[in-house]
Amino acid sequence: MVRIPEANKRLFSNIFVCKKCKTKVRSDSNRIRNKEVKCRKCNSKEFRAKNVKK
Ligand SMILES: [Zn+2]
Repeated sequence: MVRIPEANKRLFSNIFVCKKCKTKVRSDSNRIRNKEVKCRKCNSKEFRAKNVKK
């Protein structure tokens, strides 16, 4: 089987974490950037990408 790293990358980069309560939200990065996505817990619109390394 052929692996598709692009697809994996896309899957991970579409997960974001709320900066306030750390809830995970899966969404399009464009929607995050345009602030169309709200955290369902605290209604914050600030997210960061999940796979950011420290
Ligand atoms: Zn939140």
